[in-house]
Amino acid sequence: MIGKDNIYTKKIKVKLISFVFLTALIFVLSSFTGTAAECQKPDSMAQVFNTAEANLGNLRPENTLIITDIGSPAESYVFLDSFYSEFYDKHLKYTKNLLVVQNSRNSPLWFAFFDKCSGKCTYIEVSYENGSKISYKVTENIKFSELSKNQKSITAWNEKVNKTVFDGREFAILTIANGWATGNMDYELMQCLELHNHFCPGVSSGYILAHWMEEHYPLNKGVSYTVFACPTWCKDDVFVKRWDVSPGKGGIWISSLTDNETEALGGAPAGIFVVTDKNTKTMKAVVVGFNFDIVNENCGAKADDPAWVSKYLMDLWLMDKNNWDTKGLVSVISVVDINEATLSKMKSADANPYVVLGLLNKTAA
Ligand SMILES: [Zn+2]
Repeated sequence: MIGKDNIYTKKIKVKLISFVFLTALIFVLSSFTGTAAECQKPDSMAQVFNTAEANLGNLRPENTLIITDIGSPAESYVFLDSFYSEFYDKHLKYTKNLLVVQNSRNSPLWFAFFDKCSGKCTYIEVSYENGSKISYKVTENIKFSELSKNQKSITAWNEKVNKTVFDGREFAILTIANGWATGNMDYELMQCLELHNHFCPGVSSGYILAHWMEEHYPLNKGVSYTVFACPTWCKDDVFVKRWDVSPGKGGIWISSLTDNETEALGGAPAGIFVVTDKNTKTMKAVVVGFNFDIVNENCGAKADDPAWVSKYLMDLWLMDKNNWDTKGLVSVISVVDINEATLSKMKSADANPYVVLGLLNKTAA
């Protein structure tokens, strides 16, 4: 009986081992097939960084800016962990060496590695529909002082812009990278550029207007702004980012003005900022103008400069805080005490907020 028992025990043991082994095998096999696609992904981020270093040399924290839309293109979030792992392996810093711009879901996944010493920029696109791979790469020198040096260099870069050498992102990458390279770009401005995904005089004007509002109507506890982006331009993304005035939460209302209306408001209206103070139970509509003529006159751009030259020169002038108090740059068109009912009227679809405030006649259009 003892022998028989042993045989039974052995059989059970063999069965148990086979079962455990089989289960383990199934688990391992299924995890291989399940993660086959994911397994390639960390490699592709290593490939992206290697490609950049092959073209630019070592990515040193004091010289490198990476601009990318990682996370925005559909399902590109799967690369985020491996991207940051590579990023921190190079001792790069989140606030110094990176700008993750927002983009639409149907945009390509792209990376621009900029070296501020040489001015060289390696632009890389990664496709990942069937396994991931670098689908496009190019290295160009985008140092603004070199590209804008003379007519020949301007024409040469114009040709590359026309050929969309960075797949249509030439202006965005050139302006952000060069602005960052000056060392004077506020990190809070960079955060606005993440939402706006390029650096332009419009967004710069928004940055100045935001500071102007905060200086004159401080955002103390219990104070909030409601923005009437009328007329709207790139400036308005700054307010969305900085004050959390998203359209979904009723923080920003967008509409346009006719030429006649613009003229009737002094020629350069920028919008209406309604300041609600819960402490004093007051509401003020602050109507402000922004004069781009002053920027054009002072930034050093010439009439025949291409847009990438004149706009970047405007950006440089607008980035310099010493210029923010230039007379007439920001102007007060009117400050009106209002109440909840007036604010509601200003928000309604058939109303012009300037007409509601009594600053325009209905016939001005
Ligand atoms: Zn813009």
